[in-house]
Amino acid sequence: MKADILSIGTELIMGELVDTNAPYLAAHLPPMGIELQRITQAPDDLDSLVQALEQAFHRSDLILTTGGLGPTEDDLTREAIAQLLGETLHVDPQSLEGLKETFRRRGIPMPGGNVKQANLIPSARLIPNLLGTAPGWWVEKGGKIVIAMPGPPTELYPMWQTEVQPHLRLLAPETVILTRIVKTFGLAEATMNDMLLPLFHLPNASLGIYAQPQGIQLRIRVRAPSSDEAQKLVSPVEAEIRRLVGEYIWGADEQLLEEQIGKELREQGLTLATMESCTGGLLAHTITQVPGSSDYFRGGLVAYSNDIKIAWGVDPALIREHGAVSSQVAEDMARAARDRTGADLGIGTTGVAGPGELEGKPAGTVHIGLAYPGGILSFSRRYPQPRSLVKQRATTHALLELWRLLCRLRG
Ligand code: AMP
Ligand code: MG
Repeated sequence: MKADILSIGTELIMGELVDTNAPYLAAHLPPMGIELQRITQAPDDLDSLVQALEQAFHRSDLILTTGGLGPTEDDLTREAIAQLLGETLHVDPQSLEGLKETFRRRGIPMPGGNVKQANLIPSARLIPNLLGTAPGWWVEKGGKIVIAMPGPPTELYPMWQTEVQPHLRLLAPETVILTRIVKTFGLAEATMNDMLLPLFHLPNASLGIYAQPQGIQLRIRVRAPSSDEAQKLVSPVEAEIRRLVGEYIWGADEQLLEEQIGKELREQGLTLATMESCTGGLLAHTITQVPGSSDYFRGGLVAYSNDIKIAWGVDPALIREHGAVSSQVAEDMARAARDRTGADLGIGTTGVAGPGELEGKPAGTVHIGLAYPGGILSFSRRYPQPRSLVKQRATTHALLELWRLLCRLRG
C-alpha cells in the first residue's frame, strides 16, 4: 500500500509553524507495511489544496491529511476533498446534533461557523474527535482512501491511535518494514562508504549512510511478511557491519551517547568529573540526563572566569602563557577536575562560544581536555556559529572522545 501525507495550513508555508504532524504519521507507516511516497505541505487555498490532493491521489492508495478542519472560512480541507471527488457537501443532521450537544455541555451557544464541521459527502464517514469539535473524515472511493484529520497534535494523536491506525492495520497488507540504525563515530562518511561497499546492493536489504551531530549513522531497511522474518533479514547485515567497522560503533536505534557512556563507566567501575567553561554546564547536564548517573558522575564546575578556574586548581601560568582558550588550559582543567573530585576521569572544556572573538581567537574555537589515569589528551575544533550550536557540538564532541577513550581502556 502506497501513501501520501498532506499537511495543510498557510502557517506551514509561511514558515511560522513547523510541521510535526507529518513526521509523526510517517513514523507509524513502515511497521504497517505502508510505503510513504511523499510528504507535501499546502496552504489554505482551495485551488492549491485540490491540486495537491489530485497529485497524491494519482500517486498513492492512501492519502492522510492534517489541518484545515476548523470552523473558520480559511479551513478548506472538506471543500477540497469534495471537489477532488466531484461530490457535493451536505450537512449531516446527526453530526450537527452532536456538535450542538458539545456546545450545550460547554454552556455556550454554538457559533454559526461550526455548522460546517458537520459537513459530509456521500463517500465520507465521520471519524469521532473526542478532544475537539472537528471530526475527521474517512473517505473511500475508486479503490483509494483519503483520511482527513485535525491539525492540533493534541487532537490528531488520539484520533490516529484509536480511530485510524487500528482500522488501517486491517486493510494494510501483511508486510512489515523494519529499520535498524547503527550509530558510529570516528570514520569519515566517504571512508565508511568504501568499507561498506559490498553491503549497498543486497537483494533484500537496503543500506543508507547519513551524517548526524553524534557521528555517522547507518540505516538498514528491510521488508518482510512479519517482524520475525524482517528481523532475520536485518541480523546478518548488522553482523557484517559490525565485523567491518565494529570498533567505530557506539550504539543503535534510540540509544543515546550519554547512556552508552554511562553503561561503560559503570561496567568499568570508573567515575567522572567535569570543569566547563564554554559549554556552561551543558556537558554536566547531558551526562546527568541519564537515570542513575550519580553512580559514576562525581560532579562538575562551571568555571567561567579565569579566577574561578585558578581557584579550582588550574595553573595561572598556563592561562598567562597560552590564554584561557587553549589546549593547555583545557588539559589542565580536566586534570584539576579529576584531582579536585577524586574522579578517575576528568573533562575540561574551554572555547569561544561567540558571536564575538576572545583573546584574538575566533568564535567557535573549542578545546577539550580529557584526563585519565594513564595521561591527558586534548582535542581542538572550530565549529560554526550560532553560539547555542557551538555549545552543543562541543558537548557532543567531548562525549564522543570520552566514548573512544573508554573503548581503549576496555581494551
Ligand atoms: P487547523 O486545523 O489547520 O486550523 O490547525 C489548527 C492548529 O493545529 C494550528 O494552528 C497549529 O497549531 C496546529 N497544527 C496544524 N497543522 C499542524 C502540523 N502540520 N504540525 C503541527 N501542528 C499543526
Ligand atoms: Mg488552519
